[in-house]
Amino acid sequence: MSAVLVVIEHDRGHVPEATLEALTSARSIAGGLGLPVHAAAMGEGAEMVASQVGEYGAEVIHHLTSPNLGDYNPEAWGQALVGCVSSESPAVVMASGTDRGNELMAQLAARAGLPFVANCVDVAPDVSSMTRSQWGGALHEEATLDAEIKLISMAPHTVEASPGPAAGRVDEIAVDVDDSLVRSVIRDRVVLSEGITLSTAPVVVSGGRAVGSEEAFAPLEALAEELGGKVGCSRAVTNNGWRPHADQVGQTGTRIAPTIYIATGISGATQHWVGAMGSKNILAINTDPEANMVTKAGWAVIADLHEMVPAITEEVKRRKG
Ligand SMILES: Cc1cc2nc3c(=O)[nH]c(=O)nc-3n(C[C@H](O)[C@H](O)[C@H](O)COP(=O)(O)OP(=O)(O)OC[C@H]3O[C@@H](n4cnc5c(N)ncnc54)[C@H](O)[C@@H]3O)c2cc1C
Repeated sequence: MSAVLVVIEHDRGHVPEATLEALTSARSIAGGLGLPVHAAAMGEGAEMVASQVGEYGAEVIHHLTSPNLGDYNPEAWGQALVGCVSSESPAVVMASGTDRGNELMAQLAARAGLPFVANCVDVAPDVSSMTRSQWGGALHEEATLDAEIKLISMAPHTVEASPGPAAGRVDEIAVDVDDSLVRSVIRDRVVLSEGITLSTAPVVVSGGRAVGSEEAFAPLEALAEELGGKVGCSRAVTNNGWRPHADQVGQTGTRIAPTIYIATGISGATQHWVGAMGSKNILAINTDPEANMVTKAGWAVIADLHEMVPAITEEVKRRKG
């Protein structure tokens, strides 16, 4: 058994924070097992990931190559991973517990006939047991994993990504990917937002049903802009068509981990809370002192959001001069 192998999720060479978190978790698992961290990257832009991945502790980056490995394609990428795993025999294969990370691991698991535990939040040093997050974080399950090669994914925001000591050496591995696997092909891409996103924003100002309309989000936009953040919302808001689904925080939306989460007019239902609970500080603005969001938040203002949000914006502007 050679290493702890991390599957590098990337988008045309851009490595998301979740992959860097998986590398950070891999370092502590590998340290416990006395093994190095290796990484596997493939597809369009894979040659660009080596320096980023090396900085997070991967000693060797296996660059998997095949004429059939282009843009993200779960079947082809999954088969390429099978080739890498059979040639490298890692003790553990890990990915980030994102949609793509879990999809790739499921492809690898099914093709290699190995068990896979998804969305782990804690892993025993010998990787024989783990705690995994279910139902959007509302349930933690203890699982055991008995397999020669252990496949796991780490739930996003379980650890903070931190750089590691090793510098990555790139090693090319030619893998067999049959033409028949080139089935899910990305034909077009539309970038909906540039710069910081809801999941990476340091500040998120969210509105719930009490905001009342699409137009009434303007003061929340103004506050988010002053604070260098993004606007989020609850599902009541997306159901009403006031904001796009991309702005929804929660179990069926985005999980966020900002430094400050300002939740205005949001009751804090479990399905919303599981998306917000990774926030480092929470300020709830609500007229109901008993609302879940108020009782769970570190700070709360019992007030009408329509008065409080513009007042905070004015105060921030005043202090910025
Ligand atoms: C399978 C499933 C998945 C779900 N996924 C999600 C998800 O991903 N994200 C999500 O958000 N929800 C999700 N939900 C819905 C969730 O259960 C709640 O219904 C939803 O979060 C409620 O939205 P809200 O807090 O905006 O509205 P409400 O629950 O109606 O709360 C409104 C809040 O505003 C306060 N308020 C009223 N007037 C004012 C005012 N003037 N100023 C300040 N405060 C005021 C009220 O006191 C109340 O606390 C899901 C539900 C299911 C069943």
